[in-house]
Amino acid sequence: MNPVWVRTFTFIGLVAVGMLAVRVLSDWTTAFAFVAVTLTLRYLRDAIHLRNLSRWSRQELGATLPRSSGAWEELYAQLYHRGRARQREHAELTAALVSFRGAAQALPDGVVTLNAQNQIVWCNPQAEQHLNLSLAKDIGQNIVNLVRAPDFLDYISRGEWDKPVQLRMRHPGQRAERVLSLHLLTYGFSQKLLLSRDITRFEKLETTRRDFVANVSHELKTPLTVLAGFLETIAESDVTIAQRTQYMALMREQAERMKHLVDDLLTLSALEATTGPREDTVDTDALFARIEETARQLSNGEHAISFDIEPGIAVLGSEVELRSAFTNLVTNAIRYTPEHGRIDVRWHRHDDGGASLVVTDTGIGIQAQHLPRLTERFYRVDRGRSRQSGGTGLGLAIVKHVLTRHQGALAITSEVGSGSRFAATLPSGRIVDRVTSDDVEADSGERHGVPAGEAVTAE
Ligand code: ADP
Repeated sequence: MNPVWVRTFTFIGLVAVGMLAVRVLSDWTTAFAFVAVTLTLRYLRDAIHLRNLSRWSRQELGATLPRSSGAWEELYAQLYHRGRARQREHAELTAALVSFRGAAQALPDGVVTLNAQNQIVWCNPQAEQHLNLSLAKDIGQNIVNLVRAPDFLDYISRGEWDKPVQLRMRHPGQRAERVLSLHLLTYGFSQKLLLSRDITRFEKLETTRRDFVANVSHELKTPLTVLAGFLETIAESDVTIAQRTQYMALMREQAERMKHLVDDLLTLSALEATTGPREDTVDTDALFARIEETARQLSNGEHAISFDIEPGIAVLGSEVELRSAFTNLVTNAIRYTPEHGRIDVRWHRHDDGGASLVVTDTGIGIQAQHLPRLTERFYRVDRGRSRQSGGTGLGLAIVKHVLTRHQGALAITSEVGSGSRFAATLPSGRIVDRVTSDDVEADSGERHGVPAGEAVTAE
């Protein structure tokens, strides 16, 4: 039997026995008076315990139990254990919530939890940044009052959230526009999770890719159209031998143009396919001797060209890449300098151990507004002139790429009508003294076995 009932019946039994005992010793009035006093005392005791219980229940969970005995003691003990269990559950839930919020804060994406009415319950710092929110100020606010972009309002009201929506946003004080991807997910009872991701970089890459494909197609289309046109003309029977020879020469020119473009595209794609350059020891004496030969051939005696090359310098890097970049700068100077102009090529070491190739010309020059964009793919100041001189619009993009891979930099200064100066600088970490075969012979013999021109001494 339940101990409460045992106690109750025991009490009633004891009161009845007490009443009968009093009756035996006295009369019925005294016996009833005894019962009334006993019940009143019992009632008062319970009232005191109820008051203590009420006070105790208002205190924090785990507060010290009031002094008690009997059934009240048992009741207090049960309540106390329940309270402790609650306390443990509460602590566990708090720890889980703290760890969940910690994880959500570490996420690179923004997270906003919304209730059924789209009011903000919580958000992480990334979401604050993406959506220009402040958790402290905006908690409880409706998200549609804070993110006012029409596309978002449309998205949230539509109720179909299987795909994210893209928004372009610029918050006050921000210079650049951001592209965000916002995705709503529902959980629980109409609660929502709003995920935000900054996709500005991906968007830019996608635009670059699209522009690149469009540019390549455009660049190939022109010579292909010309080729197709000539082929059709040649196919006609009334073309003379002289005309045919002339057309063939023009077709060869167009084919050459396409070949240059494909070569440059392959160079760019090879640069992008690897994370860093080969680590050859490039003998720059030999490298510039070859570049000078190419330059003089291209100029065909139409320019005054000078090469001032500091001997004995070697570069740690890719010979193919460096040759391509340096040749581009020198041939550009020739292509954009009219007949009788001057081109000075200087390769020298700096005091800080680095080295620079400086190509100065007295050519057509470049307007200041074009300078920051010259190294973009297919960017040309004058499309017609570039094409006419066999340009692809990829040369300086390759130069910039190669220099960046070698931790170098390109500086351009120019004045329209006076000429340009292109300076390609490599840092000291890439430059070493080249040991010539003479040095090797003069050496005490420690370097035997090292092929001439390849041995290097670190800085
Ligand atoms: P391109 O194949 O058209 O020469 P580049 O990437 O090498 O392409 O150069 C980009 C543009 O920079 C050129 O179209 C030209 O307008 C300009 N440019 C490059 N070098 C010179 C120079 N030395 N003098 C004047 N303009 C130059």
